[in-house]
Amino acid sequence: MTGYNRVALIGLGLIASSMAHAMRAHGLAGEIVGHAKSPETRATAVEIGLCDRVCETAAEAVRGADLVVLCVPVGAMGAIAAEIAPHLAVGATITDVGSVKQAVVEAVAPHLPPHVNFIPGHPLAGTEHSGPRSGFASLFVNRWWLLTPLEGNDPAAVQRLRDFLTGLGANVDEMDVQRHDLVLAVVSHTPHLIAYTMVGVADHLRRVTQDEVIKYSASGFRDFTRIAASDPTMWRDVFLTNKEATLDILGRFTEELFMLQRAIRMEDGAFLHDYFTRTRAIRRGIIEAGQDTAAPNFGRGLPPSDKA
Ligand code: NAP
Repeated sequence: MTGYNRVALIGLGLIASSMAHAMRAHGLAGEIVGHAKSPETRATAVEIGLCDRVCETAAEAVRGADLVVLCVPVGAMGAIAAEIAPHLAVGATITDVGSVKQAVVEAVAPHLPPHVNFIPGHPLAGTEHSGPRSGFASLFVNRWWLLTPLEGNDPAAVQRLRDFLTGLGANVDEMDVQRHDLVLAVVSHTPHLIAYTMVGVADHLRRVTQDEVIKYSASGFRDFTRIAASDPTMWRDVFLTNKEATLDILGRFTEELFMLQRAIRMEDGAFLHDYFTRTRAIRRGIIEAGQDTAAPNFGRGLPPSDKA
């Protein structure tokens, strides 16, 4: 069977609510049970009918579930694992959607009983929005969902989870935990840090240029602001828990930046042209791999200010 009888979602934000919509759309769960920390989020989930049942505690939510998905910020996973551990059904699969894997494995695995399968995971899909109203069923379509199976995982449980995630529309791949954290530091974590920095610089400048940065913001800057609008709690946890890999990539980034800085100072146009030609080829590769669109402005409509 593709799917599970009862799926417990712990945390009801962007990723969990998208999973709930996609499970419903594709008939992948007999029952969806949810829990979030605050009464407000739980009330919203009830109001919009996100789950079949919303529970006040995580322990209550996981009872009888054959799939439990931890959809909370990385820093919250360990305490939740400790809370739910005594209540997990024999043979249940536990997975998570955290953006960092080594820290999650270290925080979660020691709490879990031997009669469950903990198979860490990470969907490479998201938006800058958060909360239970932000999800949509197609979030995972044609996006990678990386699993980092652990020693001792039952191969049948891994295959069942893979089939379920494929049913949500994702392309599933497996990777080891350390490699995941390094790759993600390159393709996601460090770019987010750079976006936060660039918007921070503009914010300081804004005080000098009296709002012209906002008024005339060009598409390059607008793309940075979209990334830098991502959830502060989630990203604080990502950097604190993927510290080594992020610092490694940030060091390399700084070296490249100095090289470009020098080329500009020396007016070395050939170097700059060569560099930008290579980076353009990477963009083409991403489009050919179906991970983005070649449409102008990333396929988005023009913002209101540009329409006139
Ligand atoms: P989100 O929209 O901010 O939602 C987080 C949810 O976790 C909220 O419902 C929050 O409840 C709940 N929560 C926080 N601490 C909790 C606790 N101690 N007990 C129970 N619930 C708790 O977050 P998200 O974007 O879905 O991200 C969730 C996870 O997915 C993170 O680990 C993130 O690294 C990963 N991820 C995110 C993206 C992305 O682009 N957003 C992409 C891939 C993976 P309240 O609302 O009550 O506070």
